[in-house]
Amino acid sequence: MPSVGTRLRDITRRLADAGVPSPAHDAAALMAHTFGWEISDVRTAAARDDHWPEDPLDHDLLEARVARRCAREPLQHITGKAPFRTLELQVGAGVFVPRPETEIVTEVALELARAAKPARDGMVHVTDLCAGSGAIGLSIAAEMDNAHVALVEASDEANVYLRLNARMLPASVRSRVRPILGDARGCLHHFEGCAQVVVTNPPYIPSNAVPRDVEVREYDPPEALYGLGDDGLAVPRAIIDEAARLLDVGGWLVMEHGELQGEALRAHAARSEFWGDIHTRQDLTGRDRMLVARRVGV
Ligand code: GLN
Repeated sequence: MPSVGTRLRDITRRLADAGVPSPAHDAAALMAHTFGWEISDVRTAAARDDHWPEDPLDHDLLEARVARRCAREPLQHITGKAPFRTLELQVGAGVFVPRPETEIVTEVALELARAAKPARDGMVHVTDLCAGSGAIGLSIAAEMDNAHVALVEASDEANVYLRLNARMLPASVRSRVRPILGDARGCLHHFEGCAQVVVTNPPYIPSNAVPRDVEVREYDPPEALYGLGDDGLAVPRAIIDEAARLLDVGGWLVMEHGELQGEALRAHAARSEFWGDIHTRQDLTGRDRMLVARRVGV
């Protein structure tokens, strides 16, 4: 049986040849997942040039997983897990794999929620629209003790993951989370009171801008990617309008978007009397990636 280090290098090279963007990380992650180790255990064993457990079945399983990754199935679908902020979310076919840039969107929503005046019940009400696996909304519930979070998601398949992920949370967090099967563009009837923050990572890719990464193109659900209309913004615009109905006066909307879409979304919000303090925020690489606006008026 080859050593851990030899195997790690071999798998890294095969993944790199297949065009996998982060071959060294994914090789270690596939090995860790197969052997029930942490990624750091793999790296330590590789550095010491330890040998593998002798079980040939484990090696067959690893081979099968490497073949799937070489075919560009997302790593998160193979391991079934996607790390996001403090959570490890369950994901798979039929649900959008959460991205690191959405962690920053979550951070901005959290900051605004923490600064918000709580509702009469003492809670800050947050609504996550197009919640997918629950990445944004469940993180906010987990990281803010007085947040009550409703998560609206239209897809049956995504709802399965959303509910699985909600159920994984400690009871004290789970009791403040409410998954809703519904269309974010018309969900007002699910709510009795107003929200202090609406946060959303809607589909926003234009239909003619098909993503280059096979993992995205072939495996993320199209309804989570394409925002419809000529510019991919039909769904985001409808969600801005719905957010105006969902928010309390003084409440905030935070919406992720593509790097070239800031101006168009600011312009849409500015056409309505319900929005003020309309601005665009950047991700960690300095690109325009979020619309932030405050609900004003009556
Ligand atoms: N961010 C997605 C991507 O990287 C695009 C769609 C979305 O997040 N809503 O492909």
